[in-house]
Amino acid sequence: MTTHPRTQHPVIIVGGGISGLTAAAYLALAGHAVTLFEKANTPGGRARTRERNGFFFNQGAHALRLHEAGEQVLSELGVTYSGSQPQPTGIFGLVDGKVYPLSIGAGEMPFLTDAARVELMRVFGRIKQLNTEELQERSLQEWLEEQVEHPQVRQFLLARARISTYTNAPDLLSAGLALSLMNTQGVLYLDGGWQTLVDGLRQKAQEAGARLITQARVEAIEVAGEGYRVRLADDSCEDASAVLLATDPETASALVLNGTHEPLRRWAAQAIPASVACLDIALRRLPRAENLVTYCIDRPLYYSVHSAAAHLAPEGSALIHLMKYLRPGEVEEPEVSRQELEALMDLLQPGWRTEVVEQSFLPHMIASNAIVQAELGGLPGRPGPAVPGFPNLYVAGDWVGPEGEKVDACFASARSAARLMMTQLSSRQNASLDSSLGVVS
Ligand SMILES: Cc1cc2nc3c(=O)[nH]c(=O)nc-3n(C[C@H](O)[C@H](O)[C@H](O)COP(=O)(O)OP(=O)(O)OC[C@H]3O[C@@H](n4cnc5c(N)ncnc54)[C@H](O)[C@@H]3O)c2cc1C
Repeated sequence: MTTHPRTQHPVIIVGGGISGLTAAAYLALAGHAVTLFEKANTPGGRARTRERNGFFFNQGAHALRLHEAGEQVLSELGVTYSGSQPQPTGIFGLVDGKVYPLSIGAGEMPFLTDAARVELMRVFGRIKQLNTEELQERSLQEWLEEQVEHPQVRQFLLARARISTYTNAPDLLSAGLALSLMNTQGVLYLDGGWQTLVDGLRQKAQEAGARLITQARVEAIEVAGEGYRVRLADDSCEDASAVLLATDPETASALVLNGTHEPLRRWAAQAIPASVACLDIALRRLPRAENLVTYCIDRPLYYSVHSAAAHLAPEGSALIHLMKYLRPGEVEEPEVSRQELEALMDLLQPGWRTEVVEQSFLPHMIASNAIVQAELGGLPGRPGPAVPGFPNLYVAGDWVGPEGEKVDACFASARSAARLMMTQLSSRQNASLDSSLGVVS
């Protein structure tokens, strides 16, 4: 990467999740001074992994999509990781409370009628040919009602869309996004969990000179001369040549002009999060070793033994992720979600309760800060990364920019914001160098 002279004030990044760390790594590697403030004790945000008794607990099921922005960015930055794709064996479907073996590629879906199976195969073929860019502003619900005849096929495609987007709102979700994800190339479960990505990004950023300051909550961003003054919760301030807000949209809005900056305020108001309840379970052994993945076709539930593909548990034991995809605005009693997920375990792994080593229940996790909404224009309708009206103020995250979904949007928007900052800062530096040398254009 090219090296630029250090700017007078550092670039300040608010938030040390994947988005903030990615931008910090790009900027520091390009020679810019970077300070990142993270309010928690450690960086990583929702991508942190907790290690207990040899089990690696991501915060809910995490899978890295192959051949998307995340892979590209990690390779550009030289961050290495390992993992495997879930095996095509040991997959079951759950329909009407019954469990069936499933082989989608081979068309083996015993719960479908013959007519539904034929239509499903035809629709899969059609999805491969679609120009999904033209369907960004159509909702998945609308598309299914128009294009798919059989209710079982609709139900199956809805389940597929839930698994890839973690969104339980087909009436809001962009058909363009949901259908394009059905054509993607699979996912990786990561050895050691997503902490490997957090640690890798952090290491790249710090080795290149970025300062990472934890337990540092940013309270406000104020305009100061040509740059910004960043006010922290302990009443200290730091000046910045440029600022990246790598937080959720509500926090980003609250930090600028007390939440009254119109574009940021609107972006926060429009964002509808995709939320899930997560039950993560470490077992000494799997009572039913063959049941590794279950597609819950007629219920918004998820079950997968991630340790069957990745190193996440000691030999012979298992780490299982279960989730319930919550509808936007759904106020579910945590105990109700938990009981539903435990009942799913009773069905799929009878006797599991006596094998538990450790478990973690997270009743309300935000899997994405903003559902990709058809009404807002799908992916191209997402805001940022530049914040209008404020030069050199940017946002990044899973709600930002026209590229990628969930973490791929984080990687893509952070890279894009970092590149825009580099361009802006270089041209500003050249201008000030010209004026100090008396160059007239
Ligand atoms: C259950 C679950 C499952 C998921 N599964 C997948 C998956 O399979 N595939 C996928 O692609 N993605 C998945 N994701 C999404 C992925 O984890 C997130 O998109 C990504 O980690 C978000 O990174 P981020 O840096 O944008 O935000 P965050 O991780 O939320 O980080 C923001 C950081 O900013 C800090 N912060 C906030 N306010 C301030 C402040 N005022 N001052 C200082 N610091 C502040 C926070 O403490 C936090 O560390 C999943 C998420 C969840 C919750």
